Amino acid sequence: MAGRNFLFVPGPTNVPERVQQAMVVSMEDHRSPKVPELTHAVIEGLKPVFKTTTATPIIFPSTGTGGWESALTNTLSPGDKVLASRFGQFSLLWIDMCERLGLEVEVVDAEWGEGVPVEKYQEILEADTDHTIKAVLATHNETATGVTSDIGGVRAAMDAADHPALLFVDAVSSIGSIDFRQDEWGVDIAVTGSQKGLMLPAGLGIVSVSEKALAAREGSKFPRCFFDYGDMIKANGTGYFPYTPSLPMLYGLREALAIMEEEGLENVFRRHHYLASGVRAAVMEGWGLQICAKAPKWYSDTVTAIMVPEGIDGAKVIDRAFRRYNLALGAGLNKVAGKLFRIGHLGDLNECMLLGALGGAEMAMQDVGIQITPGSGVAAAESYWRANEAEGAPA
Ligand SMILES: *Cc1c(COP(=O)(O)O)cnc(C)c1O
Repeated sequence: MAGRNFLFVPGPTNVPERVQQAMVVSMEDHRSPKVPELTHAVIEGLKPVFKTTTATPIIFPSTGTGGWESALTNTLSPGDKVLASRFGQFSLLWIDMCERLGLEVEVVDAEWGEGVPVEKYQEILEADTDHTIKAVLATHNETATGVTSDIGGVRAAMDAADHPALLFVDAVSSIGSIDFRQDEWGVDIAVTGSQKGLMLPAGLGIVSVSEKALAAREGSKFPRCFFDYGDMIKANGTGYFPYTPSLPMLYGLREALAIMEEEGLENVFRRHHYLASGVRAAVMEGWGLQICAKAPKWYSDTVTAIMVPEGIDGAKVIDRAFRRYNLALGAGLNKVAGKLFRIGHLGDLNECMLLGALGGAEMAMQDVGIQITPGSGVAAAESYWRANEAEGAPA
């Protein structure tokens, strides 16, 4: 197929040219004297992205899912109770992992399209006067439904209940794209992966671990080896890793962090909000369709889940977009399979790239029988972007 593939799934995201170039290197000795400088640069460089000065970033050759597992097995013990809420495929899978590891999960189900029910969390934590709940889990950005939760609110609920549980946050599709404040929100372990806001290929599971979480490690009775924080921190202290790291990925990460620093993290967040607002205008004002997120407070700046009209299979839109227009859109997962398709708008992205995705989605939707006015989404997004400024974007 001529021309380039338009990648608009919410991860993996487009890898910037500079990052691709940084990764094209000959293989080298991972124990050479030049490695500690790289190790130090990426670990220190991650701290501002998590907005932490006190936590310890750890990089595993893994993915976000490995990061989840590391958080649970380094701090808890089999049979421990955790509080979690389920409102999409990713929050669902983290709960499934907890159960499979032998944790007892107090599950709070919320509607798919809503986020962490903060008031309910507070009620449960206030009632847990014996402090049997050892950890509170929250998915910051539910990628399956395009919903962002209020993590500052979760912290406030825990404080209001005066509850000492650890706070673990899945920030896989928010870190580096949506404001995340580990220290301010008292997040004990924040989990991300390389292939979303960090603009790299998949292959790294990255966590940032608070001192409190590291202290909890002492009492943890889960068996662990590959994902042991102690082994990793000890080796990182000398500038190395306990096993063979992917140096090309670390070079790529160093370059991605440099790109983010050059743009300015706050400008990165503003750009994501501005681009996402244009996409939402296309969907709701242009096409007259609904998004999965139930209210503006849940709207995600990294992914929009577009509800297809009753009687239409969302999977057909995705299939048509890919086969005919070389455009990759995100699928509806689990409960929302067939009911929606998703446009990822995170990472290395600008207006014109998104217009391509919106135009392609428009053609594919019409092809499968969805009644929309041709060009209406593109026009609404253009109007939004022309009338607004992503602060820090070139004038
Ligand atoms: C992508 C994603 C994951 C899973 O990460 P993998 O890297 O595929 O293991 C977990 N949570 C959220 C919110 C995600 O978007």
